This record gives sequence, C-alpha cells and structure tokens, in this order.
Amino acid sequence: MNVLIMGAPGAGKGTQAAMIAGEFGIPHISTGDALRLAVDQGTAMGQLAKGYMERGELVPDDVMNGIVRERLGQDDCRGGFLLDGFPRTVPQAEALDGILAESGRKIDRVVYLDVDRELLLERVTGRRVCRSCGATYHVRFHPPAKPGVCDKCGGELYQRKDDSAETVRTRLEEYDKKTAPLLAYYRERGVLCRIDGAKPIAEVSEDIRRCLRGPAE
Ligand code: ADP
Ligand code: AMP
Repeated sequence: MNVLIMGAPGAGKGTQAAMIAGEFGIPHISTGDALRLAVDQGTAMGQLAKGYMERGELVPDDVMNGIVRERLGQDDCRGGFLLDGFPRTVPQAEALDGILAESGRKIDRVVYLDVDRELLLERVTGRRVCRSCGATYHVRFHPPAKPGVCDKCGGELYQRKDDSAETVRTRLEEYDKKTAPLLAYYRERGVLCRIDGAKPIAEVSEDIRRCLRGPAE
C-alpha cells in the first residue's frame, strides 16, 4: 500500500506515521527528517535547505523531487511506503505521480489530518523531539515520564528551532498557500480520507486504521 499522510504543521503526521509504519510494515519516509539529517551532517543539500527551513519556507521543488525519487527507488519501498511531508505543492504531487508511474505504481490512500489553527499553534510550540531516535512528545498533551528524557531510548529531548511561534506563522502561511490545494487534487482522484486530528492520539490512530482498511471518503 502506497500512502501519504497530510496536514498542516503540528497536525500529528509524524506521531501517526510511526504507528502506521509499524502496524502496516511499510517504511516511513519523512522529508522533514531527511532534510534535518542533511543539515546536521552539513551535506551540500543540507546547506542549501538550511536557510529555507529556518525561515519556515518550503525548500525548492526540484531539490525535494530529487530526494523523493531517490528514496522511492530503494528496495524497501517495493511493498509500499508512507510519505510524510511530501508532496507539499501541486508541482511536487505531479512529479510524484510521474515517478510512481515509471514503475507502474500509484498513490492508494491519502490520510488528511484536519486540525484547527489555534490547536496547531499549541501543538507545534509544545513539541519536543528526541535527539537520538526522533520520537515526538508534547509538554502538555504527550509528556515523557521524565521531563527532557525520551521514554523509548533515554535520549535527550529538544525543541526544533523552527517550532518558535514566529516561524510557525510562516509555515502555516506556506501551508495555506501551497499545500492546502493538494486536498482537492487527491479528493478528485478518490483517494482522500479526512480524519479529525483534534481527537486524542489513540482515537486518531483508530480512525486511520479504519480508513486504511476500508474505502476512501
Ligand atoms: P506533524 O508531524 O504533523 O508536524 P507531530 O506528529 O510532530 O506533527 O505532532 C505535533 C505535536 O502535537 C507533538 O508535540 C505531538 O506530541 C502532539 N500531538 C500529535 N498528535 C496529537 C493528538 N492527537 N493530540 C494531542 N497532541 C498531539
Ligand atoms: P516538517 O518536518 O515536515 O515540518 O518539515 C520541516 C521543514 O522542511 C519545512 O518547513 C520545509 O522548510 C522543509 N520541507 C520538508 N518537506 C518539504 C517539502 N516536501 N517541500 C518543501 N520543503 C519541505
């Protein structure tokens, strides 16, 4: 099964992607994680992406399409994949269709997590991420047992630089302008599942399971 998970920053994509990837046995491909790794490692791509990410702007389409083309060509994606954070523009969605068509593949389901603006802001600004394993927490909604320490691996939790209230505003504007039009793109193709992402984590997971096992909207 080839799945996309969509939603504004803070909607819960990464949180739910971990569940889906585990239960459905498909690789979780997060373009945000891939870019953060490239920035940390100081690769040429990381150096190019860094400024855009710090400002909360989208990284240019040709860079992103290249990353995804390379990743989807790897063997572990043959039995399906879960893309998180890509596509984020209509040209990226069109490029993805082209990349998949080359190997006779297509998108089967798009899980759209719908969350209102006020809650998104609260979620993003309270997010904490494990430096070692990437697990995601929230200071209020999903706190670790011991503050600042990852429950899963004992790693150090940190706050993403782009999760400041100011940068989040730009990220949400980018989402409204460039990413939200993709909902119509996938609705027209009959693969979109809208899910109320404001519910507690376990309930959202249950709704996603139902969507992935049944017909789209
Ligand atoms: P995204 O990948 O869409 O940006 P995340 O999965 O990182 O979003 O979630 C953003 C923040 O909201 C994190 O701190 C996460 O722990 C928290 N969160 C995710 N889903 C829920 C939920 N259903 N209810 C409450 N908090 C949530
Ligand atoms: P995320 O981890 O999904 O919130 O992404 C963090 C940042 O990485 C975004 O604000 C963008 O700057 C960049 N990014 C991630 N995925 C994409 C994409 N598909 N297109 C453009 N920029 C992206």
